[in-house]
Amino acid sequence: MSMVTFEHVVKKFGNNTILDDISLNINKGEVVVVVGPSGSGKSTFLRCINALETIQGGDIRVGKLSVRGKPSEVRELRREAGMVFQQFNLFPQLTALENVMFGPIHARGMSNRQARETAIALLEKVGLAERMDHYPGELSGGQQQRVAIARALAVNPLLMLFDEPTSALDPELRHEVLKVMKDLAEEGMTMIVVTHEMDFARKVGSRLIFIDQGKIAHDGPPSELLSNPPSQRLKDFLQHVV
Ligand code: ADP
Ligand code: MG
Repeated sequence: MSMVTFEHVVKKFGNNTILDDISLNINKGEVVVVVGPSGSGKSTFLRCINALETIQGGDIRVGKLSVRGKPSEVRELRREAGMVFQQFNLFPQLTALENVMFGPIHARGMSNRQARETAIALLEKVGLAERMDHYPGELSGGQQQRVAIARALAVNPLLMLFDEPTSALDPELRHEVLKVMKDLAEEGMTMIVVTHEMDFARKVGSRLIFIDQGKIAHDGPPSELLSNPPSQRLKDFLQHVV
């Protein structure tokens, strides 16, 4: 079953073409790791999927919902594509629990009591039940990112988009976030993950995409592409990240 479809997608900033006629299909349950040089358009690629950026050509669909649909369709599409950012983006004035309750109450119209139950279960799942009354400022980066993942999951999205979720973390805090992501992948969540964590790509990814100069330069099994890079561009890139 197709979860995300790109049809001849063109994304430009001014005269600068970032995504140049990209077509691709991602099925339910795939864990797609996206890599590429800095500035190659990885964040833009993710942001186009949940319509945080508008596209200039082609179409992107999440399930049956199009980024070019009417506003109500786009709102629904955004709810179906949970996003986790490099900088966590939690609400600083809300506790961990309140952060996770926010989406279910405001985007799904869930009752306060039910949202609370959902949020507690998710915070348990990411190993933070005992920190639920803490504010983001009282949590480590790794803990904040796990709250951000719980918050994105709370509205029960169809797929999860991760934009360098561990890049802002000290190396010793990365594994706790990667572990939560690995568990999620094993549960069958469809995930698109921009990351430089090649170990994650190899062990958890079902597919690796290398974006370069506006195009998908490579798309295949992570183990094959990583152990036997088919181009000098990918070889050079991998030498810089590992
Ligand atoms: P990556 O995530 O791979 O580092 P980005 O998607 O952030 O790359 O950016 C791709 C290109 O688009 C870069 O050249 C960047 O400068 C440009 N870009 C990103 N966002 C904007 C924007 N809002 N306005 C203009 N140019 C942008
Ligand atoms: Mg980026």
